[in-house]
Amino acid sequence: MALPIPQINDENRAFWTGGAVGELRFERCQACGYYLHPPSPRCPKCWSDGIAAEAVSGRGTVYTYTINRQQWMPGLEVPFVLAVVELAEQPGLQLIARVVDCEAPTIGMAVDVAFEARGEAFIPYFRPAS
Ligand SMILES: [Zn+2]
Repeated sequence: MALPIPQINDENRAFWTGGAVGELRFERCQACGYYLHPPSPRCPKCWSDGIAAEAVSGRGTVYTYTINRQQWMPGLEVPFVLAVVELAEQPGLQLIARVVDCEAPTIGMAVDVAFEARGEAFIPYFRPAS
C-alpha cells in the first residue's frame, strides 16, 4: 500500500505544492507580517483578512521529537524521527515533520527543509543543517 497523499484544495495548495520549486510556504498576514499555521482566514494578531502564502527560508530548529517504531501501515519504514520543527522566521511557527539522516536529533538542533514528491503533493521533511 502506498503512503497517503494529501488532498489538495484551494486552501492548502500553496503549502503542498511549494516543494515543486523548493519552497516551504505558509500563509502570512499582509497587514502585520504574522505567519499563520495552521491556515486561518483571519489573522489572530490583528484580525486582518489580508492573508497570502509566502515562502520561508526552510531553516528551523528541533523543538521536540519522538522516534516512531510502530509500522502503522504497510509500506511505512520504521523507525523514523517525527519532530516538531520551529521555523526561523517566527517563534511558535511550527511544523510536524520527519527528520531524516539522523538517528536521534537533539532539542535545538538546526535543520533544513527538503521535500518528498508524492502524487501532486510535496511532503516537507527536514535534515540536519549542513
Ligand atoms: Zn495580522
